[in-house]
Amino acid sequence: MQCGICKAETQSQKVTYTEDIDRSVIVIRNVPAAVCTECGNVWYSGTVAAQLEAIVNRIIGAMIAEVAVVNYPEHAA
Ligand SMILES: [Zn+2]
Repeated sequence: MQCGICKAETQSQKVTYTEDIDRSVIVIRNVPAAVCTECGNVWYSGTVAAQLEAIVNRIIGAMIAEVAVVNYPEHAA
């Protein structure tokens, strides 16, 4: 796909997604994304974005530490 900012080509990569919420940080590893080869901007598909939101919402309710690190579920790409 094309970068939505600079229109350069993007590359499929696994990235680490970080979400800062109040005093907590949720880190989701191995997230499939399209990374721009020019500006480095990271793009997520609609499916992945929805998954990330679902994962964050699920973890938030169960968080006991200030930092949570999880792996993106492989089947959910
Ligand atoms: Zn770009």
